[in-house]
Amino acid sequence: MSSTAGITVLGATGSIGVNTLDVIERNRDRYRVVALTANRDAERLFEQCLAHQPRYAVLADTDAAEDLRLRLRDSAPDIEVLGGAEALVRVAGLDEVDCVMAAIVGAAGLLPTLEAARTGKRVLLANKEALVMSGELFMQQVRSGGAVLLPVDSEHNAIFQCLPHGYVPGTGQPDGVGQILLTASGGPFRTLAPEQLSGITPAQACAHPNWEMGRKISVDSATMMNKGLEVIEACRLFALPGDRVQVMVHPQSVVHSMVQYRDGSVLAQLGNPDMRTPIAHSLAWPERIDAGVDALDMFRVGRLDFEQPDEQRFPCLRLAREALQAGGTASAILNAANEVAVQAFLDESLVFTAIADVIEATLAQVTSRDADSFDVILEDDARARAVATGLVAAKAGRRMYS
Ligand code: NAD
Ligand code: MG
Repeated sequence: MSSTAGITVLGATGSIGVNTLDVIERNRDRYRVVALTANRDAERLFEQCLAHQPRYAVLADTDAAEDLRLRLRDSAPDIEVLGGAEALVRVAGLDEVDCVMAAIVGAAGLLPTLEAARTGKRVLLANKEALVMSGELFMQQVRSGGAVLLPVDSEHNAIFQCLPHGYVPGTGQPDGVGQILLTASGGPFRTLAPEQLSGITPAQACAHPNWEMGRKISVDSATMMNKGLEVIEACRLFALPGDRVQVMVHPQSVVHSMVQYRDGSVLAQLGNPDMRTPIAHSLAWPERIDAGVDALDMFRVGRLDFEQPDEQRFPCLRLAREALQAGGTASAILNAANEVAVQAFLDESLVFTAIADVIEATLAQVTSRDADSFDVILEDDARARAVATGLVAAKAGRRMYS
């Protein structure tokens, strides 16, 4: 067996992917990149291939894969370039891969992440949408595949760090826990006058005060759907009901989340808001490695504030809790409607405040059912996308003629 861990980075060109490669670069004696994947950014993947010399480079878009093949032909002919969604699944399950960073955004990440679970990898989960969609079935796949699922999402990684020694997600409820206190920055519009929310532009929504992230999750943070998805994610990972996950707005984003124990103790994980910390933690767990992150200066932080979330201003939080409560495929329907609505907002065909309206109307129109197979989940995901797309078009039409 090789002494370095073989890694596939799904979503290598994104914000999490780039941070993951930065941490790997700092720890080259421990990790070797087996595969890098992206959607269609051949230029960036080409540069990453030169720097990390993976065995495989995959682009979901087959034309972009052809472009990458031509670029690599002279400079790195040993790298095998693959194209298409099936190739993403293939490189997640290779024998020579020990660890898969699941950092594709959205439902597109589900099948490759599942393959990593099925083949018993260490799965570093950034792609929360995959878990939100498929819930308990995903966790079953982790258990039956003998995979180790470690959360990369900063809050869930913080919670994991605060849970009893030896506990890993997917093994039931951790001992002695009363509540999880899930922190939220509140996004860029926490204090904006409510009547100004409808005029928000994509550029404003993507300018997060504390974190630099991809566009979709940035909009999710601005609507607080990100926190709604994270409540569901926490319930799945740690086998807790929704009423034991309390959202707390914490504008400084220094406390990444907390666990309140039955005996009155509260454990928190703190750090600068830099995703390289949870990435490094999940890569090396149970050891610790250099992440390139500055030490937290508590004197500079000075104070830590906590507030109740405002569900009037952020209806997406309520919608996510309702979907969690409804169970079955409701969270897949919620997620799909959100993906469609957020993309429409980014494309400037939907106003910011209508994102929640589209999700609520989709949940009302698409009835959920038992999520007893991945086929059922994917079918309801598709039904929700069709309904949400129709609602977006109807709203765009009304705007045009009003
Ligand atoms: P991003 O948009 O910056 O990157 C997404 C990556 O996925 C890119 O490499 C892109 O090429 C790839 N991708 C997109 N669509 C694809 C498709 N159809 N097929 C194959 N690949 C595809 O996003 P990000 O901010 O890095 O977020 C990635 C995931 O991590 C999301 O699920 C997000 O919720 C989660 N996450 C991100 C952060 C963060 O700080 N960025 C924090 C916590 C969780
Ligand atoms: Mg998070």
